[in-house]
Amino acid sequence: MNRAVFLDRDGTLNADSRDYIKNLDEFWLFPFTIEALKILSRCGFRLVIITNQACIAKGLTTVEKVQKIHDFITAEFRINGIILDGIFYCPHHPDAGCGCRKPKITNVLKAAKMNDIDLSKSWFIGDSKRDVETGKNAGCHTILVKTGLRETIDAGNWNPAPEYIMENLLAAARLIEQMKKENLK
Ligand SMILES: [Mg+2]
Ligand SMILES: [Zn+2]
Repeated sequence: MNRAVFLDRDGTLNADSRDYIKNLDEFWLFPFTIEALKILSRCGFRLVIITNQACIAKGLTTVEKVQKIHDFITAEFRINGIILDGIFYCPHHPDAGCGCRKPKITNVLKAAKMNDIDLSKSWFIGDSKRDVETGKNAGCHTILVKTGLRETIDAGNWNPAPEYIMENLLAAARLIEQMKKENLK
């Protein structure tokens, strides 16, 4: 079976915005994202993005505009030798009660099935409480990164608490690489 790193999008791979990332003009990858993902691919991890995009249901953007962002991400990664094994997004309203909105794990399970992923040997990286919950719900190891807009100062006391709290995605990737080298996780 394969191991994966599940990645949140906004605030983890790219700068988040207080009023959603509605189109490609508002999308900025962090400068360290490519290097971080190169490390994780080199370690043999499958890479999957799992993101909530309620801005679609709220009418602030469209599926087409979100798709354009995801096409850009896929192309940008590919020219750097990084292959994504999927971008799964929930387009629904928070009140819709769907199973694909994090912290629910329908999309994680779908990705795991498609790519033969062992969730217990996989990681979930994100910038919010909801990402930590998603990772825990899926039985993955969890890392909280501090590059989001929300406060993380009390993250050690969250329930569930993240297994690790790192500055950013690059630090998280280096941690995972080290853990793998030492056969710890
Ligand atoms: Mg986020
Ligand atoms: Zn959904």
